[in-house]
Amino acid sequence: MSITRIFRGTAMDLEQERKFEQVLEQRCWRYFLPIGISIILFEIYNIIYALHYTDFRLDTRASRVYMVFYLILLTVTVAAIVLRNAISGRRGKEGKSRLCLRIYQVYGLILLFWSACVTVYDQRVSDNLNVYMGAALAIAVLVYMEPLFSVCGFLLAEALLLTAMPYFQPGGMLEHYGTYINSVVLAVIASAISIYRYSTVRSDFQKQELIARQNREILRKSEELNYVANHDALTGLWNRRFLEICLSDQCYGEKRQETAVLMIDIDYFKQYNDTYGHLQGDECLRRVASALNLVVSKGRLFRYGGEEFLCVVPEFGEKQARKLGEEFCRSIERLGIPAADPEKNVTVSVGMAVGTIGEREEFEALLEKADEALYQAKNSGRNRVV
Ligand code: GH3
Ligand code: MG
Ligand code: MG
Repeated sequence: MSITRIFRGTAMDLEQERKFEQVLEQRCWRYFLPIGISIILFEIYNIIYALHYTDFRLDTRASRVYMVFYLILLTVTVAAIVLRNAISGRRGKEGKSRLCLRIYQVYGLILLFWSACVTVYDQRVSDNLNVYMGAALAIAVLVYMEPLFSVCGFLLAEALLLTAMPYFQPGGMLEHYGTYINSVVLAVIASAISIYRYSTVRSDFQKQELIARQNREILRKSEELNYVANHDALTGLWNRRFLEICLSDQCYGEKRQETAVLMIDIDYFKQYNDTYGHLQGDECLRRVASALNLVVSKGRLFRYGGEEFLCVVPEFGEKQARKLGEEFCRSIERLGIPAADPEKNVTVSVGMAVGTIGEREEFEALLEKADEALYQAKNSGRNRVV
């Protein structure tokens, strides 16, 4: 892994970075509030204890210094919580998570430096690193800081500790060399934990995003495939395969109901093709299909065969079906597409049948009747409904 990838993580686009900031913010907030409140309560306890211990006089230098430390941490913690809530309560989402994250990170760094200062001052009486260790590890685990941010913070806090400790330790540096080694090891471990935590959560987020994106793509493709499988490529109408699905799913057979079946066929289409060519024939089919589709407000329109269409309308009586059929004829004639005989327009003939159906066989019988009616429509002069 290259050093830039360790420090910045794999690149993401702006939208993903925003989403990632939101994820980080939610994670940090989970710990920030309970820990912040604990720190506030603990500092209040420390202040009361120090006052009580000195009979409210704070008459030693150490008690005054610690009092300043407690007040600083108390104030900063209250300010951080108030600021965070003010920002998250603001209207609009833009940049909110980033600002909140910055508050946690800056607060983490202040806490780190605060703990380093307290630890330095503690060296007068004890060479333990407890406060610094607790704060550094908690920050490394709980605050998801960008690695560059956290490593610089840990390095600077460590530098402060190493430089200032000798001024407060009784005896020489050599007497306390163990403390120095421990603090350096602690800073390295804290930096490593912080980098690991941040990069793990970032790569988990990226994996989830990738899976979500692939799922969306699969869904889109399957919808596309579904469309292609059920629609006629030339006219965009439902195809015969979909009619089969409807029949097997009993789309029209859930309950017995009066259904109208209309078979629509373009008149003299072979001649049209022969006169104008197949390509123009296709264009004519497309225009006829979309005009028919505009007329249909209930039921479904299928491309049944070459220049044949099928309209199936459940809960439709004979009167309504005839009206629909006549509307089909009128709308196509009104399209004004010149027929093979240029004196005339392209027309359609419609054969219709209405019956109560509940099973596939009944539908097929109705279809046969509509086909016979269409034959009669053709024989009795075309451009009409029978
Ligand atoms: P009728 O009025 O009796 O229906 O006569 P018709 O010429 O329309 O009927 P026929 O069944 O003899 O001819 C249908 C023609 O439709 C033949 C075929 O070339 C044409 N056809 C079928 N599918 C397509 C297609 O997708 N594109 C084109 N351009 N023509 C098609
Ligand atoms: Mg025809
Ligand atoms: Mg035909």
